[in-house]
Order: sequence, then C-alpha cells, then structure tokens
Amino acid sequence: MDKIVFASSNIDKLNEIILFFRKLKTKVYLPKDFKIFNEPNESGKSFVENAKIKSSFGYQKTLLPCFADDSGICIEALNWGPGIKSKRFLDKFKNKKKCFEFIIDKTRKTKKNRAFFQTSICLTLKENYHIVFEGTLKGTISNKVLGKHGFGYDPIFIPNKETKTLAQMNKYKKNEISHRSMAITKLVNFLSY
Ligand code: IMP
Repeated sequence: MDKIVFASSNIDKLNEIILFFRKLKTKVYLPKDFKIFNEPNESGKSFVENAKIKSSFGYQKTLLPCFADDSGICIEALNWGPGIKSKRFLDKFKNKKKCFEFIIDKTRKTKKNRAFFQTSICLTLKENYHIVFEGTLKGTISNKVLGKHGFGYDPIFIPNKETKTLAQMNKYKKNEISHRSMAITKLVNFLSY
C-alpha cells in the first residue's frame, strides 16, 4: 500500500504515530491534504464505534485506505469515566489545571487511584470493510501534576512499573509503552505484510 490517510486533525496524535510509519513505504496523508476540514459527529458508544465513524468518513471522502484513532482515559475514581468523553470532560473546566485538580481530589477522597488509557484504531480498507487494532495502558493517577511532554491527561498518569508520569517522558519513551503505540504497532505490522 503506498498511500494511507490518517483521519485526524490532532497534531499531538500525529507526532506520535508518524514515527511508526518511518519503516514502511506507505505515505501518510491527512484530511487537510485533500482540503477536508469538517469532521463527523463522534456519536458512537465505544472507542471502536467512534474510531470506525472517523475512518469511514475519511474513506468516503478520499476513497483511499483510511485509519482513525479514538482514545481516552478511564479513571476508577470517576466510575471509570470519562472514557470516550475524555476530550469533552477536559473542555468542561476553565483550564487543564482545574480539571487535573478535580481528578486528583476525587482520587484522594475515594482512595481509588487506578486508571487506564485506551486506544482503538479502525482501518477502513474499502466500503464496509474495517479492521480494528487496540492498545491499553494501565496505571495510576499521580498525586501531583507533573511533566511538560505529551498532551491531554499525560501529566497526571503514571503507567504501571514506572515512577514518572507520561508527561515526564519524551515521545520516544512514551512510544515504547503507550496504548497508542501498542495499537499502531499492530496496524503497522498488518500493513507490512
Ligand atoms: P479523541 O480520541 O481525539 O476523541 O481524544 C480523546 C481525548 O483523550 C484527547 O483529547 C485527550 O484529552 C485524551 N487522550 C487521548 N490519548 C491520550 C494520550 O495519549 N495522553 C493523554 N491524553 C490522551
């Protein structure tokens, strides 16, 4: 396959995934390369459903193989939310700091500190032909906001077997262990056959 579309406008996700495509001949395009600036409504009830909505949309618009990632954090102290609503949850607060304080406070009060990140990638190869690749990263909520790398909830998440938050790791280290890298590695392995 010489061309693939990554149906995303999220530059942080792109920065992480592009490193995995260096070993393939496949060139990764973005919707903006085709002057597509609108996005579908993420109305699914799961990460997989939302990833499929986005990759199907990208396929219909470009008629090229297209993949999309839907991801988020699931936090024990928030009854395993916000999950698929992770972006909307962050946006509800005045700023990220307020959101992180809320989560850390809930975690302390409930004494429930477990959390995990989930990524579901859907690859749409043709009409009604989809393949799903998934990755999960388990960890805990830190008791402080730490680190400047990464994006989203990285500053409050410590992966199991690590002592630092994801935001204290550079993108290479994050890519060794992250939920997204697990799912992308499966996709890239599939594409290399
Ligand atoms: P979506 O998959 O584009 O709907 O994004 C969901 C939201 O989950 C993002 O806006 C981030 O806030 C959060 N998120 C997804 N992946 C990560 C990650 O690797 N680190 C931190 N936050 C993430």
